[in-house]
Parts: sequence; C-alpha cells; structure tokens
Amino acid sequence: MEPAHVWSECSARLQDELPSEEFTSWIGPLQAGLRDGVLVVLAPNTYVLDWVSKSYRNQIAGIVEGMGADSGVDRIEFEVGELDARSPAAPLKAGRRDTPRRRHSRYSGSDLNPGYNFDSFVVGKNNRIAAAAARHVAEAHGESYSPLLLYGDVGLGKTHLMQAVGKEIMLRRPDVMVRYLTSHRFVNDMVEALKRGSMGEMTNGYREVGVLLIDDIQFFGEKMRSQEEFFHVFNSLQESGSQIVLTSDRYPSEIEGLEERLKSRFAGGMTAEMGHPDIETRAAILCKKAEHSGVSLSKDVAFYVAERIRSNVRELEGALHRVIANGTPVTRETVDDALGDLFARRVRQLSVEEIQKVVATYYNLKRSDLLAPRRTRTVARPRQIAMYLAREFTNHSLLEIGTQFNGRDHSTVLHACRRVADLRKEFADVDEDCANLIRRLSK
Ligand code: ADP
Ligand code: MG
Repeated sequence: MEPAHVWSECSARLQDELPSEEFTSWIGPLQAGLRDGVLVVLAPNTYVLDWVSKSYRNQIAGIVEGMGADSGVDRIEFEVGELDARSPAAPLKAGRRDTPRRRHSRYSGSDLNPGYNFDSFVVGKNNRIAAAAARHVAEAHGESYSPLLLYGDVGLGKTHLMQAVGKEIMLRRPDVMVRYLTSHRFVNDMVEALKRGSMGEMTNGYREVGVLLIDDIQFFGEKMRSQEEFFHVFNSLQESGSQIVLTSDRYPSEIEGLEERLKSRFAGGMTAEMGHPDIETRAAILCKKAEHSGVSLSKDVAFYVAERIRSNVRELEGALHRVIANGTPVTRETVDDALGDLFARRVRQLSVEEIQKVVATYYNLKRSDLLAPRRTRTVARPRQIAMYLAREFTNHSLLEIGTQFNGRDHSTVLHACRRVADLRKEFADVDEDCANLIRRLSK
C-alpha cells in the first residue's frame, strides 16, 4: 500500500468513528508519510501534536494494525511538520526531521493548518467577494478593512480563508505577530486567567498582536464576562491599527446574547458572506484536494461526485477521503462503491415530479400518462411503481403523493405501494425494473 493510502484509509475510518467537529479540529489538519516502516503522522504545530498523540495514538495504531502487513507499517510516530507540497505522496526520507522543526518556529504562536492557504482555496461565485476582501487584507493589512468579517454556514471555507490571510501576512511580513484562536479558546483562556488571577497578563498578551484572527465569534453569545474583556482587546487593537479578522456562522445582529456594542463593532468593517458552492466550484475543489493528496482525479469523475454531494465543502472532502481510501485509480465505479450509502441519502431528496419523469421515460411513456385517469395495464403498473418510489424516496405523505398524481387519494397510493412491494418479491422482472429505476434516480 502507498503511504497516501494508508493515511487516507486511516483518516476515513477516524471520520466514521469520531464526532465531525472533533475530526475536523484534530484529524483534518494531519498529514502522514512512510519512512522505513514508520508511519510518521505530521501535525501542524506542537499544540495539535501533543493532543493528537495523547488522544488518538491507540485508535490510529488499532486501525493501522487492522490493515495487516499490507500497510507496510511497523510503528507509528508523531512529529510536527508538513509533507513536501511538490510531491505530497512521496515517502518521507530519513533525516528530513529538521525541516519540520524549522517550519514550526515560523508558525509558532498560532495554530494554523498548513493546508489552509490562498493557493489551495478555490474561488467561485459563492466566495468571490470574501476571497477578494481576504486577499486585500492580506496584502495591505491594517490600512484597509478592519475588522474583516466572513460569515456563512458551516463547512464553507471560513476558517480556511481566514487562516490563509494569516499565513500570507506571515510570509510577507515576518515581523508582524499573527495570532489565531477560536472565540471558544478565548473564553477558556479567560476562565483560566480568572482562576489564577492573571487577567491582566492575559489581555496584555494581545498588545503585540498585529493580526488577530478570531474564529467562530458566535460562541461569544451569552458569555458576558468574556465579551467585556474581548471588547477591550478589540478596541485597543483597532486603535493601534492592527488587523482583525472574524468569522461567524451568522450575521452578528443574529447572534443571541451578544452585546449591542459588539454587534456593531463586529459588523463595522468589511463583511462578506460565504455561500454554497455551485457544481463547477465543487468539482474544482475536489480536483484541488485530490491533487494535494497526490491522487489523480479526472474532471468527469470530479463532476460525478460533485453532482451528488451538495451539502457543504467539508462533506465533499469527507466523500473524497472515502473514495481515495477505497483505492485508486478513482473511477465512477469506485466512487459508487465508496459512496453508495451517501448517494442513497441523496435519492431521498428527490421530488415526486422527478420520479414521475424518470419512470415515464423508462417505460416510454409521457409524464402526463402517469397522471391521466387511464387504467390500462401498460400505464397502471408504471404509475404504481412511480407511487411506490415516491413513497420510498421522498418524505411526502401518502396524501401529498396522491395529490401529485392528479388528485388521487391516500388509499390509492397505499394500495400501489403494497402491490409493488409484493410484486417485487414475486416477479424478477418487476424487481429488476425497480432496481434499474432506483439506480437511475441515484444518478
Ligand atoms: P468553515 O470554517 O466555514 O466551517 P472550513 O474553512 O473549515 O469551513 O472548510 C471546511 C473544509 O472545506 C476545509 O477542509 C476547507 O479546506 C475546505 N474548503 C472550503 N471551501 C473551500 C474552497 N473554496 N477551496 C478549497 N477548499 C475549501
Ligand atoms: Mg470554521
């Protein structure tokens, strides 16, 4: 097995086993390579390293053991570092240990995911304004929009883009101190500081910060004492001309339990919404992520996956992990195999009308034939099958389905469903028709 496969399989398993927040925070940022039979798990910084090696070492070892001798792994080690971006799939060479250490010192003081930069961020209609604002801030920080607020649903790239700003500034201006943390972390730090009586020290720690990135400010809601402290930190940074970047899963005025003065501060600079990516953008993201993992993914297959996974980018990425773990080269068949159950879920979001169209086409009928009152066998059976599929693959009630079949009542639909279920058991051809239709509806 190639090192990239060992890790993507391992990571796919962890994704199944861990709550998604946990997976994204701790496993998502990891990379791994193989060096003389040692699987070297690379963490972006010591903070992640300590936590991961403490919390997940056994779990990861268990998964790798489960792969058997095939994995080529005798031992597992954890280090700070990242894979060579030019040949991410290449095994790690002995003696490369120094590089990760050097990298670490450059990023010290902030926990940034090494994969989150502008190069790896795909710009589409959904994030064009946000990406442009982020670029602008990264290139001319302090003089422009502060705070920059990126808001939108989960999994749409807010953290990625925010960290890209931080990383770009670190590269351009090594003298500037960049600090990244979640509002969660700020609150925890503050609680700790209160316990130890070192509140002043904690807030002083922000004095030198030139760029402050606060992720997920919605967690400030209801945390009154933290809001108070953060308000002061925020104001003094603004006064000294530092750049502040914020993310939130909603617009500040919508955050419950957030003081008015913070709402207006948070929205007082540049705000940019991040929306859901369209299919082209989703496919482009898949290609970029695959390239990063050293796996080749054709445009055709990327669209095939992107068509089906529409929720958010995080899920899209999760799907790609699974596909890669299932083996390469990646084809439509291996995708079907790896994502079968995800696709089945997608089928459940079909509309009755879509189902009617697919069934009509399959039987060489028109959709209007299925709706019309005719009772001949050639039309009645397909109609019943369409009702049955609508019942199985939408969340509509019997009555709602009946209504969409030209006002038939619920008992007609119920009868059709029972009848088709029986026929499937009894007649292979009916069963095969249904299976074919389900396959078509999943496409
Ligand atoms: P959010 O903070 O909005 O919940 P994240 O920034 O954590 O979302 O993004 C979730 C995942 O999706 C990350 O792995 C990120 O790299 C990826 N992602 C989101 N949008 C893009 C994009 N436009 N291009 C590349 N990767 C993206
Ligand atoms: Mg985030």
